[in-house]
Amino acid sequence: MENKWRIGTGFDTHPLVKGRKLVIGGVEIPFNKGLDGWSDADVLVHAIMDALLGAAAMGDIGQHFPPGEPRYKDISSLDLLKEVNDKLAAQNWGIVNIDSTVITEEPKLAGFIDQMRLKLSQTLSIKTGQVSVKASTSSKLGCIGKGNGIEARAVALIEKRS
Ligand SMILES: [Zn+2]
Repeated sequence: MENKWRIGTGFDTHPLVKGRKLVIGGVEIPFNKGLDGWSDADVLVHAIMDALLGAAAMGDIGQHFPPGEPRYKDISSLDLLKEVNDKLAAQNWGIVNIDSTVITEEPKLAGFIDQMRLKLSQTLSIKTGQVSVKASTSSKLGCIGKGNGIEARAVALIEKRS
């Protein structure tokens, strides 16, 4: 028998470069650099998508949204997140909760967390209380600590709906 609850984890990193917008959790954040990638490179949304797909054992975002495909060039990752949610819903999976952490030295994200939770919950058609976003640094250690990129981690709990 299939379990009613399933848990999944997600992880993502993107390099910080000049000349790109910085979009995290669907929120554009004023900064002198942005994340590089094929889509809008929203590192937090990508980690959440992988957590959701992982919980449902449905592979990873690279399989569902291959980089290099013209349709995904600079696309808002919220659109992809909605597609992932639809794929889960098609198999009767509903989201119980998501917890996530964004790791970056700069910029400070504290002032944007509630906006991110709102965007994410609206995209997933769940309550803001079901989505947690936390901000952390890596204490100046390693490539994230030197400001070369931003990392995100997420866990998601899903349940089978009848
Ligand atoms: Zn990514």
